[in-house]
Amino acid sequence: MAFNQLLAMVEAIFSAHEEELDCEGCDQEMPHLVEIIEAGEDPTLLLPAVQEHLNHCRDCREEFEALLVIVRAEDQGVLNQNGNGTGGS
Ligand SMILES: [Zn+2]
Repeated sequence: MAFNQLLAMVEAIFSAHEEELDCEGCDQEMPHLVEIIEAGEDPTLLLPAVQEHLNHCRDCREEFEALLVIVRAEDQGVLNQNGNGTGGS
């Protein structure tokens, strides 16, 4: 049936668009994902599309990991400076 094929195609397009992020979209969401991880939240629940893209796209994953390393290094720098002073949260 031609109609069923068409329907299947439409569904495939929609689901692909829904679930798969392109590199550009992933790039835009990356800072949010880093924030989520830094906040101790689970990124697979909050940004599953980004997480999914990172699982498949090596370029974006490397970029994301580099970003994460930078953020963590900055965090540690701040922590070390305030380490023996008045720290409180
Ligand atoms: Zn990508």
